Amino acid sequence: MSCAIDRKKLSRSGGDFIDEAHLHELLRRQTDPGEVRDVIAKSLAKRPLQPEEAAVLLATEAPDLIEQIFDAARQLKRDVYGNRIVLFAPLYIGNECTNDCQYCAFRRSNREQIRRTLSPEELRRQVVALEDRGHKRLIVVFGEHPRYDAAFMAECVRQIYSIKSGHGVIRRVNVNAAPLDHEGYKILKAVGIGTYQIFQETYHHETYAKVHPKGTLKSDYLWRLDGLARAMEGGCDDVGLGVLFGLYDWRFEVLGLVTHALHLQEHYHCGPHTISFPRLRPAQGVQLDESHLVGDHEFKRLVAILRLSVPYTGLILTAREPPEVRREVMEFGVSQIDAGSRIELGGYTEAGDAQSMEREQFQLGDIRPLDDVVRELMIDGFIPSFCTACYRLGRTGEHFMEFAIPGFIQNFCTPNALTTLMEYLVDYASPETRTAGEAAIRREVEKLTDGDRKQQLLDRLHRIAESNERDLYY
Ligand code: SAM
Ligand code: SF4
Repeated sequence: MSCAIDRKKLSRSGGDFIDEAHLHELLRRQTDPGEVRDVIAKSLAKRPLQPEEAAVLLATEAPDLIEQIFDAARQLKRDVYGNRIVLFAPLYIGNECTNDCQYCAFRRSNREQIRRTLSPEELRRQVVALEDRGHKRLIVVFGEHPRYDAAFMAECVRQIYSIKSGHGVIRRVNVNAAPLDHEGYKILKAVGIGTYQIFQETYHHETYAKVHPKGTLKSDYLWRLDGLARAMEGGCDDVGLGVLFGLYDWRFEVLGLVTHALHLQEHYHCGPHTISFPRLRPAQGVQLDESHLVGDHEFKRLVAILRLSVPYTGLILTAREPPEVRREVMEFGVSQIDAGSRIELGGYTEAGDAQSMEREQFQLGDIRPLDDVVRELMIDGFIPSFCTACYRLGRTGEHFMEFAIPGFIQNFCTPNALTTLMEYLVDYASPETRTAGEAAIRREVEKLTDGDRKQQLLDRLHRIAESNERDLYY
């Protein structure tokens, strides 16, 4: 049964805080090298940037200054996140949709798309397949449809947490779906979701109206803009922002994201947990104005500038990007990627090697198996992590920021990354990946200072390798 959403009730901070004229004015300002260096210094001191400051970085065109921005982003990523990359997989549960977003194959006017909602048994099969590959973190994705109300989504999440296969279990389920009302978020919080993600798609009002036709639910810009503030008030304090890059000027969109992050920080004492920056991909029957497509160099710049603007917000790079782009962009501050992803409905058990456009939202750029991605990350010097400890120990929202801001995160994250990687190596990895992984773990452990903590970690790693003990987290 679906319950009606009360679309009149905005959050207590509700209102349109995107002042377009001001953001455009900031983008017209000239900047000088001294100013750019001052802004970089502020970022490196791990202080979030104001839109005025982010605009200084966005206006920079001199190649040597852009290199300085890249260097600073690399350094900040190392300082705040170390060399960990958290891995997750998307799980599409239903592609029915009443909206008509011009960029998406799920739009209602696309009659060629095969519509499907996974039954509980089909969902179980997908989750078992994901667990058997080693995944511990999922993001579930839904179209916007009366069938997919908060109660339905909550039931899917509850079912996912209950499914176990061998040592496999999903420990964190994030959600990407339409904006809800306060009641809806409470229902999802009660089943223990991780992050609730809503991408604004574009902060530019005119473009927003153009790609989200009038009369559809998604055409309501303000309801969507306010969606994550309501989530916070409903108890979902880990929220994820995003823009679909390619719809409008990327510089304007970065200022939109920074403004949105500051709005949440100001009103809820906690910025967004993550920011996603998907670039527009080919999708069934989609033909869009290509004047705002973002090239690879600009893409690197926007990721680096986001890293510098929001030092404590996780940055998510998705498998929309091809492996070579992911490899390059990762070092500028990405903290999470999806891997081994399939986005066809039922794709983890039913899809072959090729993608089928009539069964998915858009085309992915990277469909390498999880094991290949894990191995490659380690070869490139990263530590793949399946850690879910923070949210399970209540280190979310404002509390998470308390841990993150003084830099204590390293004490928890590195050991948890290593123990979850060890679980993966022992339970799921190919022999090649296991060998590479054990060497990577040894290297990381050697870097730690001797003492009780290091000894305890060694003990945990040994217990995972030699017994059935799992889930030993800090
Ligand atoms: N239906 C929900 C909504 O619109 O909020 C869930 C989101 S949708 C299934 C996930 C995201 O995919 C969208 O927010 C959009 O940014 C992105 N997306 C849609 N079409 C895309 C395309 N052609 N290329 C890349 N990303 C796309
Ligand atoms: Fe539906 Fe979301 Fe696709 Fe829009 S982006 S058509 S709301 S699934």
